[in-house]
Amino acid sequence: MARQSTADPVTSIARRPGLWSVFTQGFCGLSPSVSFLTHSPRSIGMTTSEAAGPERIYQQALRAGVFQIQRCAACERHVFYPRVACPHCGAAALTWVRPSGAGTVYSSSVVRRKPEQGGDLNIALVDLAEGVRLMSRVEGVAPDAVRIGMAVRASIVSEQGQALLVFVPEGGRT
Ligand SMILES: [Zn+2]
Repeated sequence: MARQSTADPVTSIARRPGLWSVFTQGFCGLSPSVSFLTHSPRSIGMTTSEAAGPERIYQQALRAGVFQIQRCAACERHVFYPRVACPHCGAAALTWVRPSGAGTVYSSSVVRRKPEQGGDLNIALVDLAEGVRLMSRVEGVAPDAVRIGMAVRASIVSEQGQALLVFVPEGGRT
């Protein structure tokens, strides 16, 4: 009956159906730098004002229909996920910029789900033209039809009241 690990109560509180749960689970094993996802301000009892930070700014913009990433004014490299300091050079000189939205699928996998849970889900690592890699999903095509090297474009969708960044095939349906 162990459908999901419940070893971390904080994570399980933060977990909800959909992409973000895949985000948190997927990234837990990849990088400690995304701990803000597994310990969202809400899940650890912080108030809204205390939660003001890069993640919140990112989410607010996404809800407003704007996809933005950070760029370091010191080393001029782009940064994602949202942070307070540049992971490349350490400078606290990150500014928000709007990426072109163009991306390339770096890897792709299919998460099998029951139809009542939303059906199979594509999970992809996408390299943005700006040089950052992010985990998302490719829509507008069958989950198992997503190919490495596929040109995709960022799109914002609303799901369960939450704005999510997804990708669609370049030139395909949006
Ligand atoms: Zn930097």
